[in-house]
Amino acid sequence: MTKHEEEEGGMKKYNLNVPYGDKKRTFVLMVADLIHHAYTKGYEMTFTDSRVKHRIGSLHHEGLAIDLNLYKNGVWLKDGTGHDELHEHWDTLGGARRITNDLNHYSVEHEGMR
Ligand SMILES: [Zn+2]
Repeated sequence: MTKHEEEEGGMKKYNLNVPYGDKKRTFVLMVADLIHHAYTKGYEMTFTDSRVKHRIGSLHHEGLAIDLNLYKNGVWLKDGTGHDELHEHWDTLGGARRITNDLNHYSVEHEGMR
């Protein structure tokens, strides 16, 4: 267990009630947890094209959000399939609630944003 993690009712959770810099570093560990979870469920992932522009004020610019492309059996699941399952895991870790129609977006809440 790292200093970023805590146990709540037998479930691992990440402590996000920390200063900004710590939160950004915790987010990376949470994403690692999510990615590992996805692979154990038979999925694979790629990072999105970093040239994709995000709206001003997006948590992507803060290092508190990431978009992940999901694959199963080498096929890119573009219709959102699989993300529901992964968002359930993301919820248990303490991640921000999913955004309808933006299911490949994983973030942590920050100043009311997700
Ligand atoms: Zn996003």
